[in-house]
Amino acid sequence: MSIETRLNEFKAAAYAPAKLLKEYKAAGRKVIGVLPYYAPEELVYAAGMVPMGIWGSNNKTISKAKEYCATFYCTIAQLALEMMLDGTMDQLDGVITPTICDTLRPMSQNFRVSMTALKKMPTIFLAHPQYRRPQFGLEFTVAQYTNVRKELEKIAGHEMTDEDIRAAIKVYNKYRQARREFVKLAGEHPEAVSAVNRSAVLKAGYFMEKPEYTEKLNALNEELKALPASNWDGIKIVTSGIICDNPVLLKIFDDNKIAIATDDVAHESRTIRVDAAEDGDPMMALAKQFADEDYDVLLYDEESSKNRRGEFVANLVKESGAKGLVLFMQQFCDPEEMEYPYLKKALDDAGIPHIKLGIDQQMRDFGQASTAIQAFADVLSV
Ligand code: SF4
Repeated sequence: MSIETRLNEFKAAAYAPAKLLKEYKAAGRKVIGVLPYYAPEELVYAAGMVPMGIWGSNNKTISKAKEYCATFYCTIAQLALEMMLDGTMDQLDGVITPTICDTLRPMSQNFRVSMTALKKMPTIFLAHPQYRRPQFGLEFTVAQYTNVRKELEKIAGHEMTDEDIRAAIKVYNKYRQARREFVKLAGEHPEAVSAVNRSAVLKAGYFMEKPEYTEKLNALNEELKALPASNWDGIKIVTSGIICDNPVLLKIFDDNKIAIATDDVAHESRTIRVDAAEDGDPMMALAKQFADEDYDVLLYDEESSKNRRGEFVANLVKESGAKGLVLFMQQFCDPEEMEYPYLKKALDDAGIPHIKLGIDQQMRDFGQASTAIQAFADVLSV
């Protein structure tokens, strides 16, 4: 099978999650929607159900969600609710609603109230601790995950064992490993994996069943590994932000011969950096995995005065051989906006050029972004 054919398989899944949801239901499966960020999806898998990520939509318009949301909520949260209100996700058997940012906290109640009033589906509340590393933080996470486990067991109609969870952790570790390897190989071979296709491959992972996805991705990775050294003569950059999965926007990068060397994007690499222990208490293993996450604007940093995150991202750029960074700044995303001055300082100190593109999922006119990207490409080519 050619690389192109393999990429097209991922694109088909990435661009048609509703079709996949229908297929899962037709096969008699139960499906759980998983909102960002850091939900222990392993528990959904361990319960024998299918987790599907919900990160808004590039194709919907906010309408029904306006009844529940303040206008200054980010479009990711609003469009997630929109799809749950307009029928797109009526077939879900439940949804996990993490509450890690100031938008998701109130939104979790909007999800709960609306889904309960409309008798659509159960919502599973999940609060992560701010102090995630001390023993009390780990215990809090385990208590929260235990509640998620119980709620999932109710929906599944049976209990899950610790062994089920350990098996799920193994599946997810393999999944994350394959994704990390793909990110690396796509960065090394932009002549074979465009920015549009790179995004589609990573996005498909939120919708496909994990073992099937991992198998297909490992096969693609093998093909990429077998390629001769890249003859890429364009520019390489690193991307940062919450999400940048809009193919129209990414095509501008491809058209300007700008490749993505690697990323610091929540929807892509931020969530696959850390694996969970495969032995011992699996609930504690998942709590520790969350505790070990780092360098994320959404996570409390005990050493925040050191600008560790900014320096981490600047190092990503240097180590990947990229010439600059493109920050996709989600409109109304306080965590990203508040972090920006620190990121800018670290990039400036390291002499790394960057641009900040204001985006949201209701974006339909890409003229301004196109001009900014072209101008950035010119700067980096000098
Ligand atoms: S984009 Fe920002 S504000 Fe919106 S859910 Fe994500 S972190 Fe929260």
